[in-house]
Amino acid sequence: MKLRILGSAGAELPDFRPPAFLIDDQLLLDAGTIGSVLGEEEQWKIHTIFITHSHLDHIRSIPALADNMIIQNQSHTVSVQSTVEVIAAMQNHLFNNVIWPDFTTIPSAENPVIKFKTITPYLENIVNDYSIIAIPVNHTVPTVGYVVKSQGKTLVYTGDTGSTEEIWKYCSGADVLIVEVSFPDSMKELAELTKHLTASMLLEELAKIEVLPKKILITHPKPQYYELIRDEVEGLSIAGIELLRDGSVYEV
Ligand SMILES: [Zn+2]
Ligand SMILES: [Zn+2]
Repeated sequence: MKLRILGSAGAELPDFRPPAFLIDDQLLLDAGTIGSVLGEEEQWKIHTIFITHSHLDHIRSIPALADNMIIQNQSHTVSVQSTVEVIAAMQNHLFNNVIWPDFTTIPSAENPVIKFKTITPYLENIVNDYSIIAIPVNHTVPTVGYVVKSQGKTLVYTGDTGSTEEIWKYCSGADVLIVEVSFPDSMKELAELTKHLTASMLLEELAKIEVLPKKILITHPKPQYYELIRDEVEGLSIAGIELLRDGSVYEV
């Protein structure tokens, strides 16, 4: 799998974009960043988007993507998939004909540019050559991480989470784990309150994994603390761990 980091920051500032992870140019995990990085032809290649949770920094590029499709490529449909709570939140609070048009009925209900699909945690979803399973994690709103398998490789993305349990069972021996560290250790209290992780909290979480993933990519740092979080992550001295940078590409 080719993994392209469209965005991996826990906020927005110049050179720091909200989370979105593009797999083989066609499958997107979270949608914090699309149109500010991908040209139109690249945008049309995306056919499925899996969303971890309804927070704005993870869904905010879908409205502009839908708008681009209406302007240029109405024959394209993007399947936006997540759990029932996340889909309901997007329908009720974003694509509600108040904040943004309901693109699930535009240009027509039969052939909309956006199609929502509800998935069930722990059940396998097959999309082309990919197997995708949603696993609940522990954040302030209903949130799932994703286990993506293709061609014998396994990638796990936690989404935003505080201390959690289930998803670590799926990480043992994985090729890549994308996991969050939002705050430096000095802000542990805020991390616990907002259900995020610091580097030392991550260390406690990784201890729950039987065989550590070959690569551990850290996402969602607050840009204001990027260097400090990088130092604390590197200070964990775990093989294959690194703080992500927007624009990076990995071969999984
Ligand atoms: Zn969040
Ligand atoms: Zn977030």
